[in-house]
Amino acid sequence: MPELPEVETVARDLQRWVAGAQITDAEVRWPRTIRHPEPEQFVAEIRGAQISRVGRRAKSVLINLVDGRVMTVALRMTGALIVAPPGTPDDPYARVVFELADGRELRYRDVRKFGRIGLWEGGGLLRRKRAKRVKGAKRAAEAKAPYRVGDVFGRHGPEPLATTFTAAKLAERLRGRSARLKTLLLDQSFIAGVGNIYADEALWRARLHPLRTADSLTPNEVARLHRAIRSVLRQGIANRGSSFGDYVGADDLPGDNAEKLFVYQRTGEPCYRCGRRIERIVVGQRSTHFCPRCQKAPEPVGQAGDAA
Ligand SMILES: [Zn+2]
Repeated sequence: MPELPEVETVARDLQRWVAGAQITDAEVRWPRTIRHPEPEQFVAEIRGAQISRVGRRAKSVLINLVDGRVMTVALRMTGALIVAPPGTPDDPYARVVFELADGRELRYRDVRKFGRIGLWEGGGLLRRKRAKRVKGAKRAAEAKAPYRVGDVFGRHGPEPLATTFTAAKLAERLRGRSARLKTLLLDQSFIAGVGNIYADEALWRARLHPLRTADSLTPNEVARLHRAIRSVLRQGIANRGSSFGDYVGADDLPGDNAEKLFVYQRTGEPCYRCGRRIERIVVGQRSTHFCPRCQKAPEPVGQAGDAA
């Protein structure tokens, strides 16, 4: 499943290749892929739009249009955005195909069909929506059907690579929380974009056991975790993402980061730091890989289960 580095790779590829391109038409082959508005309306509204720039928020690609609207693409499990030159054979897994004015196609491929595409009014992306309860039907309707791109990401946590995401900010977010580190890193409202691969990698690099609770960390450990999260994500981007199956960049090629991971899916292999065999446990139904020597287990009371 694509995480921050994979989605960032796709976004950067698209920025290079389709910024400035005009979408002349779109074909929706799997209607459920379109989250907003209704598929027919989506096609009518996207026709003729010009792409200004492509970015990312959390695990979604943001295709900004010249008129201010934003198309969001959540790749989820197996989604991919591929730029196909003219004459490229058709793709049976393409769920939505955008025709570009220069003859290329921007294809949304998704084998398992969990990904979603939305078209929204722009604005409010960086503003976190206050969870204020306001009486009135209008507010309730808006909450049910978010229509601005900012609303789509209203419940997401901070971007870990943003300059504003400091060690102090992480410390503040960890304070008073009893959740286990692995569970918290996967929580998109705690921090955006981190998934199973990079959570395990960050904890190994920070030498923190996945079952440690957030409020048990010393300031030094928080600083290590902060550095580790950012470095594993940066390394992932530098290597064009980790491919364990379907993930490809917009060039339709896998990334190189899977071979460069330290613990993820290395169960039984020696730790690169100490030589001890990497172990696998299940935390919150997710496979979790760690080094039992470098990542010291919390006190026995914390090992009782996963009641985070
Ligand atoms: Zn080790």
